[in-house]
Amino acid sequence: MRIIVAGGDGFCGWPTALYLSKQGHDVTILDNLVRRKIDEELHSNSITPIASLEDRVAKWKELTGKEIKTFVGDLNHYDFLREVFRQVQPEAFVHFGEQRSAPYSMIDREHAVYTQTNNVVGNLNVLYAIKELAPDCHLIKLGTMGEYGTPNIDIEEGYIEIEHKGRKDVLPYPKQPGSFYHLSKVHDTHNIMFACKIWGIRATDLNQGIVYGLHTHETEMDPMLVNRLDYDGVYGTALNRFLIQAAIGHDLTVYGSGNQTRAFLNIKDTVRCVEIAAENPADRGEFRVFNQFTEWFSVKELAEMVQKVAKEEGLDTKVASIENPRIEKEEHYYHAVNTKLRDLGLEPHLLDDEVLRSILKASIEHNNRVIKENVLPKVTWK
Ligand code: NAD
Repeated sequence: MRIIVAGGDGFCGWPTALYLSKQGHDVTILDNLVRRKIDEELHSNSITPIASLEDRVAKWKELTGKEIKTFVGDLNHYDFLREVFRQVQPEAFVHFGEQRSAPYSMIDREHAVYTQTNNVVGNLNVLYAIKELAPDCHLIKLGTMGEYGTPNIDIEEGYIEIEHKGRKDVLPYPKQPGSFYHLSKVHDTHNIMFACKIWGIRATDLNQGIVYGLHTHETEMDPMLVNRLDYDGVYGTALNRFLIQAAIGHDLTVYGSGNQTRAFLNIKDTVRCVEIAAENPADRGEFRVFNQFTEWFSVKELAEMVQKVAKEEGLDTKVASIENPRIEKEEHYYHAVNTKLRDLGLEPHLLDDEVLRSILKASIEHNNRVIKENVLPKVTWK
């Protein structure tokens, strides 16, 4: 299959591009490399030293003989995007190419506007490019479990049957996102749903949980293929951030009570979920939603799991509750459905001590690269 991976230089996109290429697909990466520029803006870095996109794909070709084409450019530039579609004629478009940090979107007005413009307009351009140049192409769009927020009822996969005043309908599941970034994803969802209805586009929205881990089988093949791993207060996500904090002897910073519960999955499952979606395309006009996660944990539970494994590795780590920089419920119900990807064949890599240990060891290997001032959160929601 001819597949474009937008955002293919990022944390989820790079291992996905390699995995799909290994499976025999004809993969093209589209990325404007803005994530690398944001590292410069924030004076931050990936704890792992990442090679340039050019060197990464050259190494992949040297090792496997497989070519991954690259287009460096912005989804917001429609002429560029149209040209990529014209040259590639994609059968699937995997869309990871967005600004994905909630704290980044909450820094100030400029960052909120950038996040929503970049994400919503970029996604809208992708919808138009599919309509105009590849109407049969399957859009596989990365959404997030954060779109749903934390309702006091079970979270369904995209839709919920409602009975109201004696009548019933299946309606989009209510969204209660917690940042301008998460709101951008909800806006995307609405635009995609509408485009499916009016133009007959086929789309799968993958409401992904928080991704942890670093390596996949492919990224481990050579240091030049290593994935990025974020730890700072802006881009570091729970679990990966805790593991890196443990690796540098920092307290594990739990926000508030730590009873906030979120859905998680291993990066090895991210790549497989995208493959499953690609192999089982949505029908023309169908807007399909999969909840892409394998387990859920409270933030405090995760910190305690990391603390235990770190101790076994000889690291004395404390779990520290710090003032919550976000505005979110700290005590809430959480139960979400995730059967659709399982039904299509996903066999999850669940979190256990060995998985934690391997990410911890990789973090220890590079812990001299950590810029310590960046570890604590500086962005607040207020
Ligand atoms: P990332 O920041 O590491 O990668 C995103 C990539 O997209 C970067 O390489 C960036 O340069 C590129 N990009 C951004 N805007 C672009 C544009 N306008 N044109 C072209 N390229 C652009 O992020 P990630 O962690 O890999 O996340 C990928 C996707 O998965 C995002 O859409 C994110 O919302 C979603 N997601 C991620 C997580 C997670 O835990 N990492 C969880 C849920 C959902």
